[in-house]
Amino acid sequence: MPAFCMILVGPPGSGKGTQAAKLVESLDMEHISSGDLLRHHQANGTDLGHRAKHFMEQGLLVPDELVIAMVLERINEVTAGNSVVLDGFPRTIDQAQALDQSLGSGGINLVISINVSSEELVRRLSGRVICRDCQTPYQQQEGIKTCVKCGGDLYQRDDDSSDAVLKRLEVYGAQTEPLLEFYRLQGKLEVIQGEQNVSDVSRALVSTVEKIENSR
Ligand code: ADP
Ligand code: ZN
Repeated sequence: MPAFCMILVGPPGSGKGTQAAKLVESLDMEHISSGDLLRHHQANGTDLGHRAKHFMEQGLLVPDELVIAMVLERINEVTAGNSVVLDGFPRTIDQAQALDQSLGSGGINLVISINVSSEELVRRLSGRVICRDCQTPYQQQEGIKTCVKCGGDLYQRDDDSSDAVLKRLEVYGAQTEPLLEFYRLQGKLEVIQGEQNVSDVSRALVSTVEKIENSR
């Protein structure tokens, strides 16, 4: 069980994944991304990978029973005493309830929502490519050909084509946004403005996490 467990929530394109990666570097936490786990399953051709594929391509959520088991299993592997940032999970109220049940009374310490307007999200997602090996995102117009971090190939995710992008934003509003109210009522929600540059978002995030960690 993690010693400190936080969730990053935000629509696709809000910078969640980028920010989670920076957070684990600066605060020594473990990063658990449900999307990355699913893409690994696909790359490795597992049964779960096959079952998730067509949902992901269409921008739909992968069914709860598949995702919940996958993520809870990964959380159980966290080294005792470590802190964790969950990225992309939970995405439905049922996932959140399964998580609460599994973590028990300590539960979730903090939920941070990254706020970005839908116009900006569409702009960011349709120009996005990511590294096949380490998942780092880049904007196509930056003209970078291979990953700056690891040299891996860059590609456009199937679900970053424009139809799937609009579907994912719609799914986010319908199924994931209600989580914000769920956690706000528990007094766990903090909101960060995501339309500033990456390092300003990151600074705001780190100081919010430190504030909550220190007040425990
Ligand atoms: P993004 O936040 O940019 O949509 P992710 O990598 O988090 O990207 O997710 C990509 C896709 O993986 C989602 O559109 C969905 O199909 C699937 N997925 C990821 N996490 C979950 C989850 N918690 N529940 C259901 N499906 C998920
Ligand atoms: Zn890379």
